Amino acid sequence: MNLDTPIKFLTGVGPQRAESLAKELNINTFGDLLYYFPTKYIDKSKFYTTADIHSDAVAVQLKGVISNFRLEGTGRKQRLTARFTDERGSIELVWFQGIKWIEQSIVKGKEYIIYGKPTFYQGWQISHPEIEDPVKVTNSIPTKFTPQYSIPEGLKNSKITSRALAKLQQTLWSGIKSPLPETLPGYIVSQYHLMPLTEALRNIHFPVSDEHLAKARARLKFEELFYIQLNILRFKRDKDSKSRGFVFSKIGDIFNTFYSNYLPFSLTGAQKRVIKEIRNDFLTGRQSNRLIQGDVGSGKTLVALMSMLIALDNGFQACMMAPTEILARQHFQTIKEFLKDMPVSVNILTGTSGTKERRIIHEQLENGELQILIGTHALIEDDVKFKNLGVAVIDEQHRFGVAQRAKLYGKNTVLPPHILVMTATPIPRTLSMTLYGDLDVSIIDELPPGRKPIKTIHSYDSKRLMVFKFLRDQIAEGRQVYVVYPLIEESKVLDYKDLTDGYEAITRAFPQPQYNVSIVHGRQKPDVKEYEMQRFVKGETQIMVATTVIEVGVNVPNASIMVIESAEKFGLSQLHQLRGRVGRGANQSYCILMSSYKLSQDARRRLDIMCETTDGFQISEEDLKLRGPGDMDGTQQSGTPIQLKIADLARDGQLLSMARNIAFDILEKDPELAMPQNEILKVRQQLLFNKQQNWSRIS
Ligand code: ADP
Ligand code: MG
Repeated sequence: MNLDTPIKFLTGVGPQRAESLAKELNINTFGDLLYYFPTKYIDKSKFYTTADIHSDAVAVQLKGVISNFRLEGTGRKQRLTARFTDERGSIELVWFQGIKWIEQSIVKGKEYIIYGKPTFYQGWQISHPEIEDPVKVTNSIPTKFTPQYSIPEGLKNSKITSRALAKLQQTLWSGIKSPLPETLPGYIVSQYHLMPLTEALRNIHFPVSDEHLAKARARLKFEELFYIQLNILRFKRDKDSKSRGFVFSKIGDIFNTFYSNYLPFSLTGAQKRVIKEIRNDFLTGRQSNRLIQGDVGSGKTLVALMSMLIALDNGFQACMMAPTEILARQHFQTIKEFLKDMPVSVNILTGTSGTKERRIIHEQLENGELQILIGTHALIEDDVKFKNLGVAVIDEQHRFGVAQRAKLYGKNTVLPPHILVMTATPIPRTLSMTLYGDLDVSIIDELPPGRKPIKTIHSYDSKRLMVFKFLRDQIAEGRQVYVVYPLIEESKVLDYKDLTDGYEAITRAFPQPQYNVSIVHGRQKPDVKEYEMQRFVKGETQIMVATTVIEVGVNVPNASIMVIESAEKFGLSQLHQLRGRVGRGANQSYCILMSSYKLSQDARRRLDIMCETTDGFQISEEDLKLRGPGDMDGTQQSGTPIQLKIADLARDGQLLSMARNIAFDILEKDPELAMPQNEILKVRQQLLFNKQQNWSRIS
């Protein structure tokens, strides 16, 4: 059996089906088919009778005859109904699609096996049941664990159903007479009591028992995670050993003066620890890439600033890149303020910087006069050249693509700068291990002292008047308020209508001259946006109506209330980010999540989680469970392939840690995988990842 055999040569496939399989499921070879795993299994060993149906919770399998076909309704409402009768009674069957085909192919009075979930509508009925001929079923797919494959819409036209796919798997297996080549070394298989490959693959499609299935799953999940980790760790070792970096041996005047004279508060323990970790990186002689994770408000900016000061002390420059103009300006203000009494030159470069400004910045960067440059993407444009860039900080990581990060590497002709990546929102550990597994990770797991936890309340649209009253009371006490509207796509006209309607409603409920309202959104010109922001920052307006442009980074300590409109439309990490805009001052802060009564189950769960906890790490774990890794913020943009076939980053954390540790130990002993027993690993890793080398090269 050659697993590379094109799928069209499998009995029952043929050129046309082969094309559909390739296009829709990326199944090109026998091997690809073997690795297309079922998503679940259903028990078809058990038969019910129509009299046993009491709930719509479980699918049932019945044996009986189908009769009394009737076409009802017209046009799009047309449906076909039929009576299904067994020895205990009868139920109704319904079809909305494929009506003609059903009518033609079902033989009236003949016995069939049907399978489906009953629903109650003037009596029990099953719509679109699976229908099988009992004669054909007998020598077919095993029944206790009938595999269910997920079938994309595009395949349904070519009549490839889950059942058809199971049959193909069976045909394939009937040709496998001897074990397939192992894809893990024997010592790993035996040491960790893993199921051998062939047995695992066979049991994942056609489990013999629950226990076999569990073992097959564990083996295949482990293997999948293990090779990802092996690949990441090999890349990291390779990079670490090759990439020389600047050594910043001293902590000098700039850092020390700032620390002793101008730091307005004492650092938290976590901040101190992380700065120490960064300082150690600077001493190794290797170029470092460190991910700094910390919850909103944990003080990442300050950690970044102090790291940059170390570079300055050693005669180098530093830069900090933010994803939006607003955020870049905010960082610029913050850092300028921190350094206002120190002889350090700081400037900002964004898309809106004028030609003259740019020229001066370029010149001062190249001659070294300018020490710290803050900015947006404008920083990585080719004409921006540094004299000697020592540290590059990237804030709010998830908005930048990998390619943009890579451009920072090339900013120096001699050696690349040290890179610090700061995430906006904590990422679940499993995800960071997989997405950023080649970065070193520091975690700021402590908030500055004196923060009062934000109170979060879920309120319905119908209670709006009460919410407005609450806002008036708070404003009367001198507080400021954000009201945020969701923008699903910056371009959608409809979303802006929500925003402008909302703005009008707010200005009516909070009229001048007593109240002033700012409005900020992505369509405004930068100077208008800046003007509106500044009015709020200065306290001239009490309410800021905004879209998610304020999501990251805005810092107005006196703003203590965050009202999020249509909160059900936001993802968890966005809600958490938005909430993080308040709770920065001494006053009790509130987050009010407004929604309609109609909520999906997931939406309700999200709002509940927000009301239950303010811990960003916990929220990110819940987010991963709800959405799955593919949908997490930034994973699409990050360019990292984490489309796992079987492992689940929301649930297989332990297996992932184990896989990472084992991969780590192996590479410690055999970095090049040159030992004979590791030959399999080397070959397999190359096979799996050579297509993807480009992404890992630059992260
Ligand atoms: P984030 O991690 O979300 O980027 P920031 O760096 O914006 O957080 O910090 C949030 C706020 O906390 C800022 O106003 C900052 O000045 C303040 N801050 C940072 N570190 C401390 C500290 N150790 N003690 C008190 N306040 C701090
Ligand atoms: Mg920040």
